[in-house]
Amino acid sequence: MRTAVAVVGVPGLLLSVSGIFAATPDLERLTALTARFAPVEIRADVSKLPENEQKALAQILESARLMDPLFLRQSSAENESLLLTLLGDTSPLGRARLHYFLVNKGPWSRLDHDEAFLPGVSKKSPGANFYPAGASREEVDRWTNGLSAADREAATGFFTTIRRGPGGVLVAVPYSLEYQGELAAAAERLRRAAALTQQPTLRAFLEKRASAFVSNDYYESDVAWMELDASIEPTIGPYETYEDEWFNYKAAFEAFIALRDEAETAKLATFGSHLQELEDHLPIDPRFRRPKLGGLAPIRVVNLVFASGDGNRGVQTAAFNLPNDERVVAKMGSKRVMLKNVQEAKFAMALVPISRVALPASEQAAVSFDAFFTHILMHELMHGLGPQTIRVGGRDTTVRQELKETNGPLEEAKADIAGLWALQYLMDRGIVDKAKERGTYATYVASIFRSLRFGLNEAHAKGTAIQVNYLLDKGGLRVARDGTFGFDLPAMKAGVAGLTREIMTLQATGDYANAKALLEKSAVIRPEVARVIERLQGVPVDIEPRFVTAEDLLARFVQ
Ligand code: ZN
Repeated sequence: MRTAVAVVGVPGLLLSVSGIFAATPDLERLTALTARFAPVEIRADVSKLPENEQKALAQILESARLMDPLFLRQSSAENESLLLTLLGDTSPLGRARLHYFLVNKGPWSRLDHDEAFLPGVSKKSPGANFYPAGASREEVDRWTNGLSAADREAATGFFTTIRRGPGGVLVAVPYSLEYQGELAAAAERLRRAAALTQQPTLRAFLEKRASAFVSNDYYESDVAWMELDASIEPTIGPYETYEDEWFNYKAAFEAFIALRDEAETAKLATFGSHLQELEDHLPIDPRFRRPKLGGLAPIRVVNLVFASGDGNRGVQTAAFNLPNDERVVAKMGSKRVMLKNVQEAKFAMALVPISRVALPASEQAAVSFDAFFTHILMHELMHGLGPQTIRVGGRDTTVRQELKETNGPLEEAKADIAGLWALQYLMDRGIVDKAKERGTYATYVASIFRSLRFGLNEAHAKGTAIQVNYLLDKGGLRVARDGTFGFDLPAMKAGVAGLTREIMTLQATGDYANAKALLEKSAVIRPEVARVIERLQGVPVDIEPRFVTAEDLLARFVQ
């Protein structure tokens, strides 16, 4: 599972910017569509890696590059020939088409409901190229339902394509066969990297993932990925199933090759050591507090060196949770990986311009990436605090079960607002520098608008609307005459604690009726908020990364 929403909201809702294409976009239109992605150089500091580790990293990058052609082929059978044609067209229009093709990894504009932007291209198949051309969803569904349990497992598994065998019957083909050439080459480079690194858990992952590419059995390598404890944090292979819009069965190839961020890892450890203390002081009825918190899912903060395949198309990933294999999750849990330098690029390209529109001049200088990222870290940690398993009417149940469709938005609002409460608690006790107080709130106010920019059809955005409306009503947020949003610090602090209490009490009591009432009343965009959003039209939607550190490493160690 992945998050792209750290700065951008929900893609596909930018009708005011793009609309549905009336005709194949011309050069001017293509340039405007592409300009929604601000070009940015992505760098990571490799200077502290010994030379053998840098060489290992370069081999991993070589392997990761192979995920691009694999994903192109998975996404559409026509992609590779389209790309070849585009590469031969050196006209300005041809260059613009190639550029936008590479951003989208195909001829369909992912921000615009997959509208085709090249002439003569048919609609994007929701089954992508995982199923045979000409097959229908119903035919595949009927076929899988008629299979034995074992065959059905292969047919609906992550790592097979469905093709037509002799006589037109459907058959499941393992990825290790379908993509044999590229996977053999990718495995070879991972093995070279494994031979170069001195880090045992990294070596174990690289060797096991190389074997998985050949055997098609990814279990051991997913376990090894959970056990990674190394300066280099590679994620490479078939993972997410979003591209299979028919069934979400089939995993798309991608890579996120990153370096662990030591400073943020230390910050996380500090926060982690205070979590029980935070729980013990939550601004709620003491009987709703948990005397002993459960184990926390691991979080890794990394800086991205290179992303490819499904991991580098359209809106960029800011964080992800893996693996998706339920057997591994049951045994080891899952790991959250946060791409700090990607979030920093999104912050610079979107949040800073948003703050110049949304905040009064006097607060703009206090907005900082450090405050932004610290709040995101705290948001993630706060998902582990507060009521989770509860008793309602004598039954043992969970917040999720009782609050049903209101759970997502409320849980996201909780993580945001309780995250602010927790940071205030730590600042008041000198664990986090008190000088960061104003910047924490100013940055939070700016980030409200990046969440709400694209509408309310997603849990994070609904959760944000609840917060902004509550804080407006309590006087924490103040709208100035020029329409900008300032804040009153004492009222803000009281409002943050008050909303934390209100949401966590709904969760602790499993109070669906009142949760629903709160959402109906508060998950709305008020006119004063809409007026700011209207003024954000020109702010980029996302970034288009250029991986300069990766280019440099490849030039030094591979070519
Ligand atoms: Zn969250």
